Amino acid sequence: MRSYSTRKRVLVTGGAGFLGSHLIDRLIERGDEVLCVDNLFTGDKSNIDHLASNPRFEFMRHDITFPLFVEVDEIYNLACPASPIHYQFDPVQTTKTSVIGAINMLGLAKRLKVRIFQASTSEVYGDPSVHPQPETYWGNVNPIGPRACYDEGKRCAETLFFDYHRQHGLDIKVVRIFNTYGPRMHPGDGRVVSNFVIQALKGEPITLYGDGSQTRSFCYVDDLVEGFLRMMDTGEELPGPVNLGNPNEFTMRGLANAIIELTGSKSPIEERPLPQDDPKQRQPDIAIAREKLGWEPRVQLREGLKHTIAYFDEFLSELPDRKVA
Ligand code: NAD
Ligand code: UDP
Ligand code: UDP
Repeated sequence: MRSYSTRKRVLVTGGAGFLGSHLIDRLIERGDEVLCVDNLFTGDKSNIDHLASNPRFEFMRHDITFPLFVEVDEIYNLACPASPIHYQFDPVQTTKTSVIGAINMLGLAKRLKVRIFQASTSEVYGDPSVHPQPETYWGNVNPIGPRACYDEGKRCAETLFFDYHRQHGLDIKVVRIFNTYGPRMHPGDGRVVSNFVIQALKGEPITLYGDGSQTRSFCYVDDLVEGFLRMMDTGEELPGPVNLGNPNEFTMRGLANAIIELTGSKSPIEERPLPQDDPKQRQPDIAIAREKLGWEPRVQLREGLKHTIAYFDEFLSELPDRKVA
């Protein structure tokens, strides 16, 4: 636990969301003070309720597309809806959050002369023609498609981070996050892990898109947050970008079977049409994270799934007919 004199005051934007709330737990645990700024678009107060009475935690409802004047020692910029259902709900606001939000947070960091972290994404690689994707790959993104508000917004945010770095000498840390799962995932975001777990727990058919031979690699949230903290603690010579994700691949059919087994569910697997442009494979190259951060995922898929299943089990039992969409 940090002493009062070494305690940092850390701003986490998007702190009421899935990743942000886990990051805040780790920061509070190590003794920092945390200011959580979130407009609660996809985040939920229940993710941070347990911190409400902690004197080192403060919540501020605010949209980062508007200027923010606060005093902090470090900034983690995570605010942005992350799943297609959510970021396509109001695509203009999604781009504004990534771009204008980044400008505001960079302006704040510049005024305060503090280090700023950006949660970027594997989606900057678009539909990649290189496997696995190293940070040097420039990506393959359609600038006018329905995913562009997210992909191009995040790409532009990276541009802004590196221009503030070069032009104003700002101390930046950019990570590119690959698929992550765990407790507090949004239950209605349509992602494969939350869908399968909720379907299995409710005894409903598991909706497998295509024949289930497509692969993904999933990083457990605790591993990812460890990567954030290690990146934030590196020297100024490493602005990034650094890929953070799990290189172990699993087929979607394998995932469905594992979830059925771990929940003891009787749910049948039902094949559904494969969505258009569904990538056959996505996998991070994490050589830089291994070498520079000494980081790699530790939590095995089955172990991470157990924690995730326990979370959704409790979530559903609190209100059995809870609407999850
Ligand atoms: P999330 O939706 O759970 O969290 C995002 C948070 O940002 C929410 O609490 C939301 O209310 C808040 N927010 C959105 N727009 C805002 C605005 N204009 N002002 C203030 N707050 C705003 O998503 P997450 O999975 O926790 O993602 C966090 C970050 O990590 C995002 O930037 C996302 O792009 C990035 N990321 C996540 C993943 C993943 O697998 N979860 C993968 C790649 C990148
Ligand atoms: N900004 C902010 N908080 C601050 C400082 C700046 O929200 O503490 C915003 C400010 O509103 C501006 C943006 O950050 O729109 C970029 O700031 P910068 O100083 O880089 O640019 P300028 O103000 O010169 O346009
Ligand atoms: N998927 C599935 N059933 C679902 C949701 C998703 O089979 O109910 C598949 C989807 O087609 C994709 C994979 O699971 O091949 C991962 O989908 P997700 O939306 O979670 O992530 P992304 O495609 O962005 O990696």
